[in-house]
Amino acid sequence: MGKLEAGYIYESPDGIHVFRRPVGDYDSRKKEEINLDTGKPTGRMFNEYPFKEVTTEEKVRNLVYNTPNDMELGQKVRYLFPLEKKASDEYLKFWTCELCGEHTHEVDYDYLGSGTNHLGCELKEAETKHFADGFHEGEWEKD
Ligand SMILES: [Zn+2]
Repeated sequence: MGKLEAGYIYESPDGIHVFRRPVGDYDSRKKEEINLDTGKPTGRMFNEYPFKEVTTEEKVRNLVYNTPNDMELGQKVRYLFPLEKKASDEYLKFWTCELCGEHTHEVDYDYLGSGTNHLGCELKEAETKHFADGFHEGEWEKD
């Protein structure tokens, strides 16, 4: 097996073809096919293949049938479950506004309130609270 370059996520949609993309880049058009024997690109891109949705069982079956080397098989099985996906899910879960439920990972720090909330959502909530505080027994507080 060829040496794999660092800085790429390797994955296989069908258990036969292996593609890589730069870490953190989710653009599927940039996925290039890799020849695992040489570790080098084959010159074909992910988009050139008409991959259909295959079940995990089919993918693993393809792998087992097509990969006689157990070590290589293990590596290919790992590509079926890219770790980065889980990491990015947890990242997004962390960067969530508790008030509106939207992700705030791309929000500028100036527009964040406490923690990972939108500043705007917190201001809105503070306003609503203040509004409710001014209302006593069906009458508005007179200042
Ligand atoms: Zn929000």
